[in-house]
Amino acid sequence: MINIISDEISQMCFSQFGSCVYYFKLADGRKVIIDTSTKKNKEELLEDLDKLKIDPASVDTLILTHTHWDHVENAGVFSNAEIFNNENIDDLEIEGMKVFRCPGHTFDSIALLYKKFLFSGDTLFHGSGIGRRDLEESEPEKMDESLALLRGLDYDVLCPGHV
Ligand SMILES: [Zn+2]
Repeated sequence: MINIISDEISQMCFSQFGSCVYYFKLADGRKVIIDTSTKKNKEELLEDLDKLKIDPASVDTLILTHTHWDHVENAGVFSNAEIFNNENIDDLEIEGMKVFRCPGHTFDSIALLYKKFLFSGDTLFHGSGIGRRDLEESEPEKMDESLALLRGLDYDVLCPGHV
């Protein structure tokens, strides 16, 4: 299911468990995807991309908010995209986008603020929901600080990893 978030940003959500996928096109023409959902949702993802008239091979940049399986399984769909995650996110150059490291749900979680849109991965959800921090890869002692960081940002629209 496609939700148009703004003129620039579309959200794709799916019938089976898996992350949402966000798409936007930058003023310079680059196409950006944030997170990729699961293999079980691959057909739906491809259908939604087709409806949005996006050739997956034309996506330039893929950003992963963290490396959980339910966010990364379709990374291969975007065969020509440069992939950014916690390890190399400092190399990402998108005008108007700020990156925040927010360990807690996982050690490698990041969030992205683009204009007034906050892509919060699995750290912060709608309705003040927060991500699990009882996983092997969690850093529960850092979650409160990360949540305070994100809640303090100047955003209007929350774009979480799951809705
Ligand atoms: Zn996760």
